[in-house]
Amino acid sequence: MKYGNLKMWIGGEWVDAVSGQTFTTKNVTTGEDLGSVPLADTADADRAVAAAKAAFPVWSRKTVAERSRILSKIADEIRRRGEEFMELDALEHGMPKHLADAPDVIAASGNFEAAAAFCRHLTGTVIPSKRGTMYCLTKVPVGVCALITPWNLPFFLMAQKVALSLAAGCTSVLKAPSINAVTSVKFAELLDSIEELPKGAVNVITGPGSTIGTYLASHKDIDCVGFTGSTETGVDIMKAAAPTLKKLTMELGGKNPAIVFPDANLDLAVKTLSHHQFNNCGQACGSPGRIYVHEDCYDRFLEKYAAACKVFADGLGDPMLPTTRMGPLVSGSHYRKVTSYIEYGIEDGATLFIDGRTDKPNFVGPTVFTDVTPGMRIYRDEIFGPVSVIVKWKDEDEVMDLATDNVYGLTASIWSTNIAHALKLGERFQVGTFSINCHNNVSPEAPWGGVRQSGIGQKEGGYEGILGYMDDKLITISLDE
Ligand code: NAD
Repeated sequence: MKYGNLKMWIGGEWVDAVSGQTFTTKNVTTGEDLGSVPLADTADADRAVAAAKAAFPVWSRKTVAERSRILSKIADEIRRRGEEFMELDALEHGMPKHLADAPDVIAASGNFEAAAAFCRHLTGTVIPSKRGTMYCLTKVPVGVCALITPWNLPFFLMAQKVALSLAAGCTSVLKAPSINAVTSVKFAELLDSIEELPKGAVNVITGPGSTIGTYLASHKDIDCVGFTGSTETGVDIMKAAAPTLKKLTMELGGKNPAIVFPDANLDLAVKTLSHHQFNNCGQACGSPGRIYVHEDCYDRFLEKYAAACKVFADGLGDPMLPTTRMGPLVSGSHYRKVTSYIEYGIEDGATLFIDGRTDKPNFVGPTVFTDVTPGMRIYRDEIFGPVSVIVKWKDEDEVMDLATDNVYGLTASIWSTNIAHALKLGERFQVGTFSINCHNNVSPEAPWGGVRQSGIGQKEGGYEGILGYMDDKLITISLDE
């Protein structure tokens, strides 16, 4: 096993599970064991929450300048050890090593850099009053957070939540998916190397979401849950958190529309939309799950899209190789889900324009369906794989009705050189991010997230992302002598 027997990080100590049980994570391409990690249960979650609670007075009382300096150190350390995390992404997740550089590992460092900068600018407001009282609205850390992350962009999303919550002055227990357990422990090792970070400010436990995730969400000493994952799990977490009324930040699923107009720069549209659909094997919340193309440019778009697909298909292979553009899907169960959706598309009567299925387990190349109608399962559901759904349109009102008719509200894009008109149409989307001539441009400086069934609470990222881990506290001062 490349990574050997690993431990969890609780209160600054390296520990086994109370039960002594362990599980192994796998190399998704070869099926070999990568590392053994503790199988945490509720007793371990209790220890981690207690450690985070004990560290809260220490961490929350640090000045923003002190916090900022520590966050910057973590950012630098991620860059220094970047290669190691890119390799882990390739082995544990299947993301091509050279791609893991920018979207996952370097962006993880960017999260700490941005949080380090923004936390020095946290401010409150003074509210004028005529009643002889001064009102000061201050921002205070929520307290102890459970940070629960998904397996796509594993390091970026762990880093984002830890960076934002630390910047706010919170302490936390991080639980990543079992698939990425080694990555989470290696992240803990990196944090452990930062001497100035108090013991217990961050704790990392490894184990299944259905037990320790739910338990953390319901724990009486957890004040806030920062969750990114599927809408279904988001609902379970809300239910678990309801009896103790926790603050929630939830970034959930999406089925994001992109509408291409005849006056669009088609090369740009094809390059960007195919990139966001296939880059991480379609395992991205913001991928363009429904692409609507005007009939006047439909044939040209399809021809160019097919050429873009071929480039990705030619680069399907071992994620450790520098020539690889697409690796395997993250797991056998996810592979079965994605290939089932390809079967559903065929059963429901769509045209399989490009079939990306291969005989190699877990590998699916770019797959494109045309002649898709709204009743079909591939049109409605989040597939989270390299499967494009392309719909031909003629009437603008009709396509807007179609594009906005979905339970999700993560992101949407319009492709047109008439920016004013695109902006006007954008008013009709209930989404967290609306884009013109680009799609899903995530940046550590900008808050990102969804509305409707794609998310609730504060967006993640940027200055606003820190506020997701803070509460308002009003201080009133009598001015009477
Ligand atoms: P998931 O919901 O299955 O799991 C996410 C995390 O929740 C994991 O750590 C898991 O162990 C844990 N978990 C599972 N069941 C739990 C429960 N009952 N209680 C508490 N925790 C539990 O999601 P996934 O399959 O890992 O990730 C894919 C999903 O994440 C997609 O729907 C995608 O759209 C979404 N996502 C959203 C964003 C965003 O910014 N909106 C970003 C990335 C991924």
